[in-house]
Amino acid sequence: MKIYFLGTGTSQGIPVIGSHHSVCLSDDPKDKRLRVSVWIEWDDYSFVIDCGPDFRQQMLTSKCHKIDAILFTHEHADHTAGLDDIRPFFFKQGEIPIYAHQRVLKNLERRFEYIFETENKYPGAPGVEAFEVVNNQNITIGEKTIVPINAMHGNLQVFGYRFDRVAYLTDVKTITAEEVKKLQNLEVLVVNALRDEPHDTHFNLEEALDFIALVKPKKAYLTHISHIFGFHEAIQQRLPENVFLAYDNLEINL
Ligand SMILES: [Zn+2]
Repeated sequence: MKIYFLGTGTSQGIPVIGSHHSVCLSDDPKDKRLRVSVWIEWDDYSFVIDCGPDFRQQMLTSKCHKIDAILFTHEHADHTAGLDDIRPFFFKQGEIPIYAHQRVLKNLERRFEYIFETENKYPGAPGVEAFEVVNNQNITIGEKTIVPINAMHGNLQVFGYRFDRVAYLTDVKTITAEEVKKLQNLEVLVVNALRDEPHDTHFNLEEALDFIALVKPKKAYLTHISHIFGFHEAIQQRLPENVFLAYDNLEINL
């Protein structure tokens, strides 16, 4: 299995447009973060989680050549706004399977009406095949089983996803003990950590580290990073030995 971090930034990305913050001005490539997304290659399958506004650039940089499914965590724009750019995949492969909570599918249907059009659809528009993700129901794609993990992003429900011994959770603020049970025996846990200061809808570093201590994966990677958190190198030095700050284009092979 290959985990490729397509983007590791929070909603505005880093650098933030027009910002003179030292992290936004950093020359370190690890301090440049596109909107959060990950590509998982599992045997012959290619899965992408979320499809934010940087999707096109992420597909070009990573050289992702096929998508068997896009799994959405939730409907916020930093996770969905790039959906139109699946067109090259659609032209090659046909309708792209998308998986999301029913609420998220409805939201996408409203915002990308032309993609879901059934009559007189514009021939250049992309097409999707929509599948509903339901909590406590595993997703089967070909021979692969993916486990949805239910969590809360403030008042908004979000899904994380477990692929064998890898789990990816972002935009989490709270999660029940019931859901944590679905995260036993992980090789790799990816989880959001926005910054040091608390935030209403995102784990800060302390909450993310507490969560990692509870789940006990072999290794954990932090994502959905704000520029306010600081420089990549400085944050990494403060982390426990099995915890790593993810960065764009980081590739993990298992
Ligand atoms: Zn987000």
